[in-house]
Amino acid sequence: MVDPSLKSDFLDYLRKNGIKHSVYIENVASFRNTDAIGSSFRHPSALPPDLFSVYLSHQQMSNYLDLLAKKYPPLVHVQAFGTSFEKRRLDMVKISTEKSGVEKPIILIDAGIHAREWIAPAMALFIINQLAENETNRYLTEEIEWHICPLLNPDGYEYSRKTDMWWRKTRSHTKNKHCRGVDGNRNFDFHWNECGASSDPCSGCYAGEKPFSEVETQAFRAYVMSIRDRLKLYLTFHSYGPVLVPNFQNNFPFLNAHFDKFLL
Ligand SMILES: [Zn+2]
Repeated sequence: MVDPSLKSDFLDYLRKNGIKHSVYIENVASFRNTDAIGSSFRHPSALPPDLFSVYLSHQQMSNYLDLLAKKYPPLVHVQAFGTSFEKRRLDMVKISTEKSGVEKPIILIDAGIHAREWIAPAMALFIINQLAENETNRYLTEEIEWHICPLLNPDGYEYSRKTDMWWRKTRSHTKNKHCRGVDGNRNFDFHWNECGASSDPCSGCYAGEKPFSEVETQAFRAYVMSIRDRLKLYLTFHSYGPVLVPNFQNNFPFLNAHFDKFLL
């Protein structure tokens, strides 16, 4: 996304560096798909007939994961690896074809640490859906154990759905009683609060009082440490724009999500 005043410099830069480009959305601010949330409000916990036609609530996601675990044992296993500040379940799905005595390499995926980036959890859920329910993908689970947390910040996500669409952080209390939440993606200890982060609790990039101040990041750290010996790849999904592509089969949403942990 480029500010109009920077457009010509940006295009120059792309040209100079030989980067192919095209405009995907002319005006991002006008591009909101509120219908996609509206319909899911009518189903607070029941699953919609077409799972990927709306942005699911946290409860709906958990219900879907439980359903998969029930339908596809031992391929799919769901565990709560922690609880959010507002006591919502933090789900981790493990998907792997059972092979007794074999310790497989692990691919770890998380999504939704930033509350308003709704397409990221939707994409993680779609990957779960494809690994579990699409039999032609079984080869992907033969040699790999997939560990996927589709929603790492459920409190912020629900707050974003119901109250403030642009909410980004967790919902914990801070030292400023008027400003809540920590940017979970700035709360890890690696180069904590060095750049792109803020010490101001009212900032959207507030890094927290200290590294791992949030129960969500604490729980995630403990989980990662528990699988560290076999962890070979870690992907964390972010996005820009409240964009839902109605038919994921034909329009895979990679365009709207990427793996940049530090920029978004
Ligand atoms: Zn993000």
